[in-house]
Amino acid sequence: MTPFDRERLLFTPQSPDSNAIPLIFAFPNEYTIGITSLGYQIVWSKFALRSDVQVSRLFTDIQDNLPRNPELLGFSVSWELDYINIFNLLESLDIPLHSKDRNDNHPLVFGGGTVLTANPEPFADFFDVILLGDGENLLDNFIDAYQDVRNGDRATKLRHLATIPGIYIPSLYQVTYENPQGAIAAIAPIYPEIPSVVEKQTYRGNTLSTSTVVTELAAWENIYMVEVVRSCPEMCRFCLASYLTLPFRTASLEGSLIPAIAKGLEVTNRLGLLGASVTQHPEFEALLDYLSQPQYQDVRLSIASVRTNTVTEKLAHTLAQRDTRSITIAVESGSEKVRRIVNKKLENDEIIQAAINAKAGGLKALKLYGMVGIPGETIEDVEQTVTMIEDVKKAAPGLRVTLGCSTFVPKSHTPFQWLGVNPDAKKRLKFLEKQLRQRGCDFRPESYNWSVIQALISRGDRRLSRLLEQTREYGDSVGSYKRAFKQLRGEIPSLDYYVHQDWQTDQILPWSHLQGALPEKTLVKHLNEARDCMVKGEKVN
Ligand code: SF4
Repeated sequence: MTPFDRERLLFTPQSPDSNAIPLIFAFPNEYTIGITSLGYQIVWSKFALRSDVQVSRLFTDIQDNLPRNPELLGFSVSWELDYINIFNLLESLDIPLHSKDRNDNHPLVFGGGTVLTANPEPFADFFDVILLGDGENLLDNFIDAYQDVRNGDRATKLRHLATIPGIYIPSLYQVTYENPQGAIAAIAPIYPEIPSVVEKQTYRGNTLSTSTVVTELAAWENIYMVEVVRSCPEMCRFCLASYLTLPFRTASLEGSLIPAIAKGLEVTNRLGLLGASVTQHPEFEALLDYLSQPQYQDVRLSIASVRTNTVTEKLAHTLAQRDTRSITIAVESGSEKVRRIVNKKLENDEIIQAAINAKAGGLKALKLYGMVGIPGETIEDVEQTVTMIEDVKKAAPGLRVTLGCSTFVPKSHTPFQWLGVNPDAKKRLKFLEKQLRQRGCDFRPESYNWSVIQALISRGDRRLSRLLEQTREYGDSVGSYKRAFKQLRGEIPSLDYYVHQDWQTDQILPWSHLQGALPEKTLVKHLNEARDCMVKGEKVN
């Protein structure tokens, strides 16, 4: 029995037509991880529901019977470092890594997902086609457009696809630089009919995604996932999950969520409510009431993200009854100044109240999520995080308090995209570790070095493709990246340029030709508001 045989499908795949497009849809990691990605499930089922497509799945550990001559090969990319697995899979299929080395006998290699939508440029040389934004309409438009030119040569196909909104063909844009180590001088399409700016696609319906397959082999065993909201209206200025996917959209309770949940709970009793800001659904209370019905008493409930001031005793009680022991809230910092800088509308009192409510509702643990190195942060602000944790522990004795902490990483399409990683963040993580362990708080820092690599990929341009190929030989540690930078010294910008330097707001960004949810001038306005808070904060202190 293969892992595929153990799946319970919540849709009925179409039988492919005799001349259906042979398409391989890959997830560049193991099956257990890929099948837990709601995005992967949705795209795969969308292809499987078209009779003009014959889709086969490929993971790094298992695969369907693959077609001998696929016309399309797609990757769903949700983790930056999976690029190494993409290289391996391309090689295993005898497909050249670089788009420019492929010919009419090779499939078109396409990709989508958060990593590529945020900033595809470090990977631009390896993909023929990149799909930007929500897949709801984009995938069908892509396949329909491909059908129009299916019998054409490679160049004809790419030129036609480039005219479809949301479809980005990197090879049809030329990027020039002021000098090999300098800023970008220009990004321009190489043919007049190719749009100079590609717009990320936004789905505006009120039916969001739900699992199309449930399996005991998923990383969250047997989970049925329901997307409750998309994006987040809070707009914390560093937050990709909010800015990249705006506007905030909510699934309709009666028309979408309840029927979907009822269907999913026929095949499993594990339910995951997904979204960047689940509890901000306007009918979240009614959803909790629905799940409190007697027939759902044994349902295990997981909630992706909870806004601090929505942690009511009722929510805590519902979760505690459903086999959940802890709740996670993102507080970013114990400093109110820092929270103003990032636009996190939250007071320390609300964090303390959340802890009190979590305990009163019967939860055993509270996980706080914070960040160091936020622009404008000083060591005094980090000290305030220690004080805040002390206050939380005092207010809810017996509740196990954990602080997970990452380093600020600039993300494209956010107001902080121009700001570099603060190298002092490493020391600040160490400081928090020492202080909090002394106070009996469980501290879980995310590796500073990993944040550096994330920032590099997050703000990278096409010149990084050589570096990515090089690091593959050395392994995925920061040391490998440094070694590769050394080898390419003089030929590409430095690590410092990509990761630590603040960039000018008038410089051309690697993704300037890819339009996100908000225009650049709005992002500059939000950045300036943050800078005002930094100045005011200094005066107050
Ligand atoms: S509340 Fe969370 S998800 Fe929403 S914008 Fe802020 S960090 Fe992002």
